[in-house]
Amino acid sequence: MQLYEKLIEYTEAERLVLENTRLLPAEDAPLALARGLALSEDVSAKFDSPPFDNSAVDGYAVRSADAEAGNSFRVVDEAPAGRPAAKSVGEGEAIKIFTGGVIPGGADAVVMVENTTGWGEEFELEKAASPGQNVRRSGEDVREGDVILKRGTEVGPPEIALAATQGYGRLPVHRRPKVVVLSTGSELVEPGARDLAPGEIYDSNSFAIIAQAHEVGAEARRISAASDDADLIRNAVQEALETADVVVTSGGVSVGERDLVKGTMLELGVEQVFWGVKFKPGKPLFFGVKGDVRFFGLPGNPVSAMVCFELFVRPALMKMMGREDRRRPRIEVYFEEDVKNHFGRMHAMRVSLERTQEGWLARSVGAQGSGLVSSLTKADALALIGPESEGVRAGEPVEAIVLRDEKLFS
Ligand code: AMP
Ligand code: MG
Repeated sequence: MQLYEKLIEYTEAERLVLENTRLLPAEDAPLALARGLALSEDVSAKFDSPPFDNSAVDGYAVRSADAEAGNSFRVVDEAPAGRPAAKSVGEGEAIKIFTGGVIPGGADAVVMVENTTGWGEEFELEKAASPGQNVRRSGEDVREGDVILKRGTEVGPPEIALAATQGYGRLPVHRRPKVVVLSTGSELVEPGARDLAPGEIYDSNSFAIIAQAHEVGAEARRISAASDDADLIRNAVQEALETADVVVTSGGVSVGERDLVKGTMLELGVEQVFWGVKFKPGKPLFFGVKGDVRFFGLPGNPVSAMVCFELFVRPALMKMMGREDRRRPRIEVYFEEDVKNHFGRMHAMRVSLERTQEGWLARSVGAQGSGLVSSLTKADALALIGPESEGVRAGEPVEAIVLRDEKLFS
């Protein structure tokens, strides 16, 4: 019988995963697809922006020297956005102008139409204007040569907007990791495909893992090998190794005789970094490396699979993307009652959170069985209890990983 050679602590396992994970190479991503990725280089302004003096309002461009209340003006041309006027503004003259229109030669102010007698070939000014009024200056937003976005910045909508103003159609970013997900288990049936026969269950893990990978910003695809047949698993993993940065399997990685994943990995040349972590839920976790591919063998129990993803795969994907700043928040929580831990290993306990006068009160979501998928829908955080201790006392601070950060702001 296959047994764990050596169980390692959670912190050691996390360290080994990160130590064996590299930042992915940079590539130029189309602007619209760069959201959520980290910039691999500084991005600089190619020109002053806005690129020309322009009007902030609809009205008339005038010489401020003429712009006393009661003065009359002759309208000699117009300057809508995108079409500069052909004429310039002389004494007593005005050019009709619209928001974004180029300030014509001779003019140094724009009077709002609301402060005049209205649109026409002539108008009278009702309110004096000062130099520069309603003029948006060239370069007032950014200056040519300025670093407008720093390397490492996460690209979000404002960064995309700023890059677009400078004409960037693509941005240099660390690319998305390609994750291939593979569930093993002859009992598994694809959800939606058909009803279950006796002994069968639906494959929930591969869908959960794909969703978790997408949540991080990775690309993820599923290959189907829902079987405990060694050849099928080998072929599927081989295929996965060719295209993936990260291969994630679920099931078949424990010590049962049908647990073929680890053996298959080793046969395919995956080098084991560790197998077996002293924590619950998810002790059988396997982590290995082959060339540039990282391999995670998650246990089949759905809660174990998802918690292992949270604790190990997610940080690895974030590191690959240069997004380590976006790790799950960690907070201190406390329990109202003593909490036992008889597992002899760290327990990542599913808890709900409530803000109280004393801080964050954690409560177990209920039974902590690793097959209880519904328990995860109730969990706001994972409280890290242990590793060797008998548990924690009421009121004692405990570290927790927050899964639903909206909870922190509620
Ligand atoms: P294993 O790790 O293969 O021994 O599986 C442990 C438990 O998790 C068994 O009850 C399996 O039926 C269940 N399981 C394995 N894979 C999946 C999956 N993809 N979706 C849901 N349950 C699974
Ligand atoms: Mg199995």
